[in-house]
Amino acid sequence: MKRNIIKINEEKCTGCGGCMIGCPEGALQVIDGKARLMSDLFCDGLGACIGECPEGAIEIETREAEPYDEKKVMKNIVEAGSNVVKAHLKHLQEHGQTDYLNQAIDYLKENNIEVPEYEEEATLACGCPGSMAQEVERSRLKSQEEVYTDLQC
Ligand code: SF4
Repeated sequence: MKRNIIKINEEKCTGCGGCMIGCPEGALQVIDGKARLMSDLFCDGLGACIGECPEGAIEIETREAEPYDEKKVMKNIVEAGSNVVKAHLKHLQEHGQTDYLNQAIDYLKENNIEVPEYEEEATLACGCPGSMAQEVERSRLKSQEEVYTDLQC
């Protein structure tokens, strides 16, 4: 499938590792002095890492890439620790990625892992920190209603 995904300019990259901080998905690692995208599966294409690069070495391109896989990302993230889980959920929330956020929360629940209080630290333009969580819940309810309606027909 064609989708947005990051592209690293190796000539500009100094290997400082700043982009890894901006990527809670764990898609980036510095190897042999250059940032590398470890797998298309781990890059959501939102470009949170771009602002962390002092060299302007990262941009978004549209190309053929394997689809981003939230469950595979979550497996890695959980192994990295609860603060990384929290950062990832916050990242998805801030980018309005409701479907991925729901998948991530489902993964935690399926594996009996506590869902951290990521939404409390988010500062939204409306000043209401709980609105996105409510939006996620509304989205789930809507899906359940649609399934129920389908079953009745
Ligand atoms: S932040 Fe930029 S310069 Fe530093 S490792 Fe990442 S891509 Fe390279």
